[in-house]
Amino acid sequence: MPAIQEALARDLGRNYVETSILELGNSLGDAKTVYDNVSKWAKPDSIPWQLNWFAMGPKVRKEPKGVALIIFPFNYPVWLSLGPLAGAIAAGCAVVLKPSELTPAYSALIAELIPKYLDPELYTVVNGAVPQSTKLLELPWDHILYTGGGRVARIVLTAAAKTLTPVSTELGGKSPVVIDSNCDLKVVGKRLMWGKTANAGQTCVAPDYVLVEKSFAPALVQACKDALKEFYPDGAEKSDSFSHMISAGHFDRLKGLIDNTKGEIVYGGGANKDTLFIEPTLVLGVDANDSLMSEELFGPVLPIVLVKDVDEAIDFINARDHPLALYVFSKSSAFKAKVLDNTQSGAALVNDVLVHALVEGFPFGGIGPSGSGAHKGKFGFDMFTHLRPTLDSPSWVEDAHELPLPSLHAKARNI
Ligand code: NAD
Repeated sequence: MPAIQEALARDLGRNYVETSILELGNSLGDAKTVYDNVSKWAKPDSIPWQLNWFAMGPKVRKEPKGVALIIFPFNYPVWLSLGPLAGAIAAGCAVVLKPSELTPAYSALIAELIPKYLDPELYTVVNGAVPQSTKLLELPWDHILYTGGGRVARIVLTAAAKTLTPVSTELGGKSPVVIDSNCDLKVVGKRLMWGKTANAGQTCVAPDYVLVEKSFAPALVQACKDALKEFYPDGAEKSDSFSHMISAGHFDRLKGLIDNTKGEIVYGGGANKDTLFIEPTLVLGVDANDSLMSEELFGPVLPIVLVKDVDEAIDFINARDHPLALYVFSKSSAFKAKVLDNTQSGAALVNDVLVHALVEGFPFGGIGPSGSGAHKGKFGFDMFTHLRPTLDSPSWVEDAHELPLPSLHAKARNI
């Protein structure tokens, strides 16, 4: 465990505790769920009794799809490799893991650990960047799980189309937060800012932007500022509990979006390229055409979009791709139901953020442009399992069996 924590401290400047809570616990939880349940899940399923078929003993066998390729991103490389790996092992698949080139310490560590603990003939790690990934994608696989951004997902899906390889995609997007003025403001501030600052906002289900009524926005901003002051009394830059941006490229990308915003920076805005630090930043009055609304932010910057009411917030969300997660903060059952009933997203949480990724028994996945397919626990096992219907037809059913034969069509017509 300390070796993994140390690797992520090097790659992301991430605090050991954050790695423990957000990655190690989750990975171990997935592995334990899978280990405890695999014998039950792997049993063939019976189907409901049917007069026509019962004699043939129809069953659905759970068979491994075969050899799987798991490509995973830099931001939560432990959970996004070991979680699905547990499902694939349980399903009986052999696996090639392809880490991100942006996490050299973790990528080297996993390449060292996997052959130490697992059969190297069946489980292996291929490190490298685009050339190595491109080569891997030229091979035929029995299943690919790709976790990452939409741009690369298109490359993966196009390559997989050539070999007709099935692909599950776990992507990202702009996960919105709708805030009702009837909410527990202190809780909102803390949870929202935790979701935005964990791993410096480099979380696929991080709250990307907020939709709130104009009159309530100042109170919300204050609650967020209070939470940030509580988290980082001496400022985030001095804190050892705040990660840095993964690379100079991602630093420049996000800094550019901040520099070009037409919104008002009401907190933060600081950055230091030497340390890849971007300060937790609140930007008020961001509109739909703003730089901060042009792509998934994937960093500690929160644009606040002002809306007239909940209907406008719902229209704003529905005018965009279905997000990976959607969050609502409200005390009103009618408000919560209205948002959930009129939107679509991978997951939807009320009065919290991120934690669904930790809940055992939940599927983790997107919808449409935020991904297809889901993993975690049983859903990981299912992803790498082929459902193979089988039956064994005894000779004594021959009378019924002969009905489709041409010689008996005349008899069959009278049934
Ligand atoms: P990315 O798309 O840049 O890279 C992901 C993986 O693809 C890496 O392993 C990388 O080496 C590989 N890759 C890069 N270029 C490639 C190419 N040309 N051909 C084949 N493979 C290639 O993603 P990232 O920046 O590492 O991660 C951030 C994105 O991942 C965000 O959009 C985030 O929302 C998303 N994400 C989604 C989930 C989820 O479970 N839905 C989880 C984490 C991150």
